[in-house]
Amino acid sequence: MATLAFLGAAQQVTGSCYLIETGEHRLLLECGIRQGTDRRDDEDEQPFSFDPRTIDSVIISHTHLDHSGMVPLLVKSGYDGPVYTTSATRDLLPIMYRDAASLILSDYERKNRRLLRAGKEPETPPYDMEDVEQALQLIVGINYGIKQQVCPEIQLRFRDAGHVLGSAIVELWIAAEEGNRKLVFSGDLGNDCAPLLSDPEVIAEADILLLESTYGERNHRPLSETLEEFKKVIETAANKGGNILIPSFAVGRTQDLIYWLGQLKREGGLDSHTVYIDSPMAIKVSDVYSRHQSLFNDDDPDFRQFIKQGWDRWLPGLVYTPTPEESMELNTLNDGAIIIAGSGMCTGGRILHHLKHNLWLPNTHVVIVGYQAQGTLGRALVDGISQVKIYGEEISVKAKIHTLGGFSAHAGQDQLIRWASNFQPKRPHLFLIHGEPEAMDVLQQRLIQDYQWDAYIPSLGEVITL
Ligand SMILES: [Zn+2]
Ligand SMILES: [Zn+2]
Repeated sequence: MATLAFLGAAQQVTGSCYLIETGEHRLLLECGIRQGTDRRDDEDEQPFSFDPRTIDSVIISHTHLDHSGMVPLLVKSGYDGPVYTTSATRDLLPIMYRDAASLILSDYERKNRRLLRAGKEPETPPYDMEDVEQALQLIVGINYGIKQQVCPEIQLRFRDAGHVLGSAIVELWIAAEEGNRKLVFSGDLGNDCAPLLSDPEVIAEADILLLESTYGERNHRPLSETLEEFKKVIETAANKGGNILIPSFAVGRTQDLIYWLGQLKREGGLDSHTVYIDSPMAIKVSDVYSRHQSLFNDDDPDFRQFIKQGWDRWLPGLVYTPTPEESMELNTLNDGAIIIAGSGMCTGGRILHHLKHNLWLPNTHVVIVGYQAQGTLGRALVDGISQVKIYGEEISVKAKIHTLGGFSAHAGQDQLIRWASNFQPKRPHLFLIHGEPEAMDVLQQRLIQDYQWDAYIPSLGEVITL
């Protein structure tokens, strides 16, 4: 009997994790970290609800840590089998894993200094750089469209999900006693308006479909409106002076921004400002993007020509500031800088220094281009907070905060439904995953009302027979 257990991202967004058992073999589909309120109280003592040594293979849909981030800990806990992912994700994961580990390790260092000063025992981090390097050794990159035998009963194929570089929809053919089943896992589906990547690939056949529902309750604002708003902010800053700060995720959003800013430069709308990419991680990621430019869409052949010679050929005057010294130098600029830096929700990283130096200035513009979770500084700024504390210093928020909603890397409600309705003529059993309960309910209702398609919302830990 083949079964599927929903171990994560069931009625929540993060911690993507599903366990498929065939009787003979155990395959882990995704191994993501839980973030924010999705975290369990016993998370640190009990990271896995299964024994990692009993898993035969792991499949990862894309580089985001809520889909991939637990692999180093899985390896530390005894897993030593293959970790299948796409070729581009294989090239991105070293950047993501090493960055995440160094953040964790420096957090523990700080914490342990405090503990030692208080005469207490220091604590051991959950995993270290050695575990990361060992995990990276296990990663097997497969190109889109190639069938791979994962174990004797299971075949795997990745299709382009268009969400971030290397992101995949996962197709699995599972031979079970009851007969053969095809399972399709949507992964995170991209937004059709994404400038660089292709639309999610159309798939027509499945017996079981796991569909992400991040934006199951609504559509995004039209991209054209977002771009107009973005242009207006830059125009205002050009006329009245002041810097523009953009907190941004290193994977995907930063590259999209360089694309839009390059287009604006070409139209003559960006002569007043210099664009700085102040994120060593985003610089490395951009490099991987250009190495895999064969995966870009064909919408803008000009862009593809330019990008062959580098991102700064597309956006002339683009400045990278990888070193801390170069980054600190930006603090002396009062005007004429567009600074793109992480972290995307202002929870850490270099953007904090820039916010500290610029938020109190009424001429500063902060442009929010991504999702801001409850409890983050980014969210507080969006909600109109007037005073913030950064690195122990009280900062008055006089800057203008702009929230641009149209840059999402996720499919909106209509796009999700359109993609799912490609499964024809036979409708698969549909399971909604990777969403807040409210978003899932709305999507479920719409599927029933408009398509007479009954979708099931599994709960965390639920097991179904395939
Ligand atoms: Zn994602
Ligand atoms: Zn996700």
